[in-house]
Amino acid sequence: MVKITVVKTTAPRTRPDQNKLGFGRHFTDHMFIMDYTEGKGWHDARIVPYGPLEMEPACAVLHYGQAVFEGMKAYKSQDGRILLFRPEQNMARLNRSNARLSIPQFDEEFVLEALKQLVLLDRDWIPEAPGTALYLRPFVIGTDNVLGVRASSTYKLMIILSPVGAYYEEGLNPVSIWVEPHYVRAVRGGTGYAKAAGNYAGSLLAQKNAQAKGYSQVLWLDGLERKYVEEVGAMNVFFNIDGELITPDLGDSVLPGITRDSVLQLLKSWNIPAAERRLSVEEIFQAHADGRLVEAFGCGTAAVISPIGKLGWGERDIVINEGRIGEISQRLYDTMTGIQTGRLEDPFGWTVEVEG
Ligand SMILES: *Cc1c(COP(=O)(O)O)cnc(C)c1O
Repeated sequence: MVKITVVKTTAPRTRPDQNKLGFGRHFTDHMFIMDYTEGKGWHDARIVPYGPLEMEPACAVLHYGQAVFEGMKAYKSQDGRILLFRPEQNMARLNRSNARLSIPQFDEEFVLEALKQLVLLDRDWIPEAPGTALYLRPFVIGTDNVLGVRASSTYKLMIILSPVGAYYEEGLNPVSIWVEPHYVRAVRGGTGYAKAAGNYAGSLLAQKNAQAKGYSQVLWLDGLERKYVEEVGAMNVFFNIDGELITPDLGDSVLPGITRDSVLQLLKSWNIPAAERRLSVEEIFQAHADGRLVEAFGCGTAAVISPIGKLGWGERDIVINEGRIGEISQRLYDTMTGIQTGRLEDPFGWTVEVEG
């Protein structure tokens, strides 16, 4: 296996106040970099002090957006162990994103090993207050200095680490969501199933408009008919209708969330009915009118579970579960975070310990 060279920092960075971390604002002492060159493959795997990259203005990623990323977390358990949550899933998804953007595949086991080494080196940066974690951001960019539109022949795969605070400082508060009637996040045949940087750039305008209306996130509809629910913000979404938990089926325009998959497995283990199928906004609003819409929530690595308290769709506004967190949402949140932080037993074998 390829060796990873390590250059340790001689100027450790100042640690942020653990109670004011925010999300993705602070970075640890080190980062991982590996280069790709056509004909040579991935090479020069190294851990070096965190710092700026040097690139030419012609760098491919700056023009045509050949960039993909991942988001995952490392937790410190009460007994001092460092735990990752299903990290092999993130590695596999990063390679699927690579494939979609014509970026070469990498050795998933090797990069996971590099990630563990990096986390271990910066282990003192893992915050310990409830709800906090070390957020891990692997990403890949095309680095050719050529303006022709074509796949780059050189790349960098990097990993940076950021201590993050509780996503909701005041606890698990239900959020209000705007059903976006015009803009779409992804279309069939597009890049929606990949964690491609450009997907997020394209979502910002709708997000800004929703916030101006007083909503915190956008509910994305399908790109063809704008009738069927796909995702909420950068999260997957579930609706509890009459005790059945319904989430949009994946297709290729929905991001296959690891939290979504874990939620489905938990529901199954609890014998709670769940379905992956097409779900129209009309059906959701009708279920609410009939008193059958019990609860709704988004799910993803950053927030884990994010209850939805209000949905706005054109002139219509509905309040879900009196704006309170639903019973199953709360149970999922407690169980997921319990397993992730080692507080609860892990019957699924999801957690992976990073050992020095
Ligand atoms: C990352 C992401 C998710 C959630 O995926 P997880 O693996 O659960 O973190 C959902 N939707 C979008 C668009 C995303 O980018």
